[in-house]
Amino acid sequence: MAYNGVLAQYGHLMDLPAHTLPITLLEGNTPLIPMPGLAAELGGGFELYVKFEGLNPTGSFKDRGMTAAVSEAAGRGAKAVICASTGNTAASAAAYASRAGMRAVVIIPDGKVATGKLAGAMAYGAEVIQIKGSFDDALNLVVQISQRHPIALVNSLNPYRLEGQKSSAFEICDTLGAAPDWLCLPVGNAGNITSYWMGFRQYNTLKQSGLPRILGVQAEGSAPLVIGHPVEHPETVCTAIRIGKPARGEEALQAAEESNGRIIAMSDDAILAAQRQLASHGVWVEPASAAGVCGLVHQIRTGQLDPKGKRIVAICTGHGLKDPDIITRQAATPRALPATLAAMEEAILGER
Ligand SMILES: *Cc1c(COP(=O)(O)O)cnc(C)c1O
Repeated sequence: MAYNGVLAQYGHLMDLPAHTLPITLLEGNTPLIPMPGLAAELGGGFELYVKFEGLNPTGSFKDRGMTAAVSEAAGRGAKAVICASTGNTAASAAAYASRAGMRAVVIIPDGKVATGKLAGAMAYGAEVIQIKGSFDDALNLVVQISQRHPIALVNSLNPYRLEGQKSSAFEICDTLGAAPDWLCLPVGNAGNITSYWMGFRQYNTLKQSGLPRILGVQAEGSAPLVIGHPVEHPETVCTAIRIGKPARGEEALQAAEESNGRIIAMSDDAILAAQRQLASHGVWVEPASAAGVCGLVHQIRTGQLDPKGKRIVAICTGHGLKDPDIITRQAATPRALPATLAAMEEAILGER
């Protein structure tokens, strides 16, 4: 049967109003990629998969929730959507709004958004406003604007975003035949960890699919859920999780606790190393998206998580193409050589 997006596939399991008018780009249905090579590097004896959410239509998992939020807004006749964004929400909101013929206004923190994300929002025709402030300031502003004007808020404070994002948990259970033993993922504003836990619990009630333990991973310079209080000036190269006061923080802590999992913080260096390690096995993700794998590697290496005989899924939330600069900045510029066979042979086969 043709695939028609997450609302067609799993909408009956989402709490959406009857007026919802499906707006889709056929998001979801992302691959669950086996990672035997990476598992072997970590000692082997377990199954490891990457759920590659960077293969959604706008390059991040945000599309799963955005199809639900924009479909609901379109169904009640909204003419505009607004969001605060570290980038991926902006690109996704812009794409779905354009699909629905609605205005999209996105507010982003000044100078802190990765190139591929800003370009996406612009390409889909969003009205992009930078503020001299943080993501948290931007979120404050869009909440106030949506309360004062008929403009639909599509940040993950919007409950329909979480409903749509549950679809990834359903897909994982359907692909594996059950929930994995562990689920590892990055945590920023904490909507995603919240919706995975909602989704797994719902599927377990319906189909006895079991429940994963959840390992949430923040970046050290932006780890309010690990240190126990908001971070006023969050700092990390992982722009997608550079959030000091997560809107769904309470729910995230609850998901970790109820699942018998935990939320930990990893350094930028360790996360970038995990990004390279993933790429060395063919999966290039943006820095924040490597946080889940980074936390898993750390927990296994320090003996805090015994993977033996387990089935582990790491969520890679966004595509590497979103943030090309982080790679090109660190890499040497390719050499320019004469266009001769001799020069090529020397470069490829000669002493290095
Ligand atoms: C939004 C985002 C996150 C964080 O998700 P939350 O729901 O805010 O915790 C992580 N990675 C990427 C690529 C994102 O776009």
